[in-house]
Amino acid sequence: MTRLTNALLADGRRVDIGISEGRIASIDSACAASSAGAPTIDLEGALLVPGFVDGHVHLDKTLLGLPFQPHRPGDSIAERIARERELRRELRSPVGERAKRLIDQIVPLGTTALRSHVDIDPEVGLSGLHALLRLRETTRAVDIQLVAFPQSGIMISPDVADLLDAAIGEGADLVGGLDPAGIDNDVEGHLGVIFRIAERHGVGLDIHLHDPGPLGCWELRQIAARTLAAGLVGRVAVSHAFALGAVDDGEFGRTAEALARAEVAIMTNGPGPVPMPPVRRLVAAGVRVFAGSDNIRDAWSPLGDGDMLARAMLIAYRQDFRADADLELAFDLTTRASAGALGLENDGIRVGAIADLVAMPAGSIAEAVAARPRRSLVMKRGRVVARDGVLLERGVEA
Ligand SMILES: [Zn+2]
Repeated sequence: MTRLTNALLADGRRVDIGISEGRIASIDSACAASSAGAPTIDLEGALLVPGFVDGHVHLDKTLLGLPFQPHRPGDSIAERIARERELRRELRSPVGERAKRLIDQIVPLGTTALRSHVDIDPEVGLSGLHALLRLRETTRAVDIQLVAFPQSGIMISPDVADLLDAAIGEGADLVGGLDPAGIDNDVEGHLGVIFRIAERHGVGLDIHLHDPGPLGCWELRQIAARTLAAGLVGRVAVSHAFALGAVDDGEFGRTAEALARAEVAIMTNGPGPVPMPPVRRLVAAGVRVFAGSDNIRDAWSPLGDGDMLARAMLIAYRQDFRADADLELAFDLTTRASAGALGLENDGIRVGAIADLVAMPAGSIAEAVAARPRRSLVMKRGRVVARDGVLLERGVEA
């Protein structure tokens, strides 16, 4: 048993929390219970929240640890894919080492679970997946889900369909996809391949969709229809879905209704000056929206640091969120909603919940999003894995 004393909860209560066998065993009013002999950590009134869940990251792409790489621009997604391949060939830097550096950076920021896409293409085959599967074996400070991601398309790279199928067989958790219209110019073909693989293996999907406007919304409705037909309700996500932010009310309403019915979740990273999914309208329509970092210091973006509290702030900024309730919604995208989208236990701070916890000096969730204070303590399944921004353990025994 470990005790965290003098914690401030989001609802304003000050409590002492007992932790046993990786779960929250008790929640008492601060100082009400004695902690006879149990190791105690005094949180000194810090706000205690559930661990952050990064719902979309690319562990294999980051260039962290290498000399800074000037960005190589491309005018289209296809051009940027080509630039990334060039860089990858030149650098020949092992995926596992770069991914490990990113994990070491985000654990002290409070991320306790993540979903990473991993490139599957004819050039790298399954090598990136194998590197991340090995890293997952020795990483206990953060739970890792892996999406087999066809970064170079499927219908235009025929071997990729078989590679995606093999990736799931070898341990990837979900099947990915990428702009069925914009990259493959074959919506039926692309979606047919990835839904067949998902059905055959009984896994979910997470599809990158940058295709714009009514075309993108039509694809979203196709995805929702296939989700229902495949019996994958609640197990499909679409990442980015910029289209939802650039259509009229009728198109938006039809699409949101289809997504809600099939429980297709929408991931946003609060992108730069492009349309983005309108968070409040989607949530009001019953669609689960969650957040992720996406690119962190890689060929796609030289920016990003993996801080999900900063991500909540960026989403709030892009959505013009100002009221406390709206900042709390942005925060929810990085914790409860992300956990739900990933199929993780997500019931916050209650007796019986997994002790994935983050403490930080703030008086409320809204203040935390605004101020983005240092994380004074990060706990993974009841083990302290980081304190005051310093990583203590990446790999700990379960
Ligand atoms: Zn991505």
